[in-house]
Amino acid sequence: MPEGPSIILMKESLQKFVGSKITEAHGNANFDKEYLKGKIVREIRTFGKQTYLVFDDSAIRIHLLMFGSYSVDEQIKPDKSLRLSLIFKDGMMYFYTCSVKPVDLEFLLRIDWEADIMSDEWNPKKAEKKLKSNPDMMVCDALMDQDIFSGVGNIIKNEVLFRIGVQPESLLGNMPSRKIKELIAEARNYSFDFLRWKREFVLKKHWLAHTKSICPKCGKKLIKKQTGKGKRRSFYCENDQKLY
Ligand SMILES: [Zn+2]
Repeated sequence: MPEGPSIILMKESLQKFVGSKITEAHGNANFDKEYLKGKIVREIRTFGKQTYLVFDDSAIRIHLLMFGSYSVDEQIKPDKSLRLSLIFKDGMMYFYTCSVKPVDLEFLLRIDWEADIMSDEWNPKKAEKKLKSNPDMMVCDALMDQDIFSGVGNIIKNEVLFRIGVQPESLLGNMPSRKIKELIAEARNYSFDFLRWKREFVLKKHWLAHTKSICPKCGKKLIKKQTGKGKRRSFYCENDQKLY
């Protein structure tokens, strides 16, 4: 699943359409696309794993889900995967195998932009408050909670927990305050490292725990286990990551 930093890269490649008028809209997303004709893309906003194409009076939300993708100017997947294509005078955007939904501008007002890990509006104090109000939550579930860390996915989760030396099944209520602060800081730090490395096509090379079998710190075998309520794959070192 594309994580927040990948969505920032998506936004960058769509940015050239800001100010352009839609001349045609197609695709098999389940709504009438005729109304999109003539609309001008005013802004592209991202919230975690979601992208919003904002028009004067409405917006379109795109969520790539597990297997979604996009392309610019050239259709690279068959029509059956094509949920939405938007044609402009100077180019095209295509979205495949994803969720596409028209929303009104009110919807954008209700989003807690401060929960977006990649945003300038990211609010670590607010995240801390949310974490402290969920003492029984496992840290692996907390990181994947899109209301707390919007944009964090499984890769970021595994790498952050390795970096801060915390076992994924640790309960928030057992973690000392300084560890909670470290968690919040590193979730954002790693996300920006992710973005930089992804841009340079070297993201995987920098993975320390995610999909790895040997701990790069101590050389012991890493544990691979589905953890938390979300039952997502965790990779961790029993030796270097403490269970709180
Ligand atoms: Zn280790």
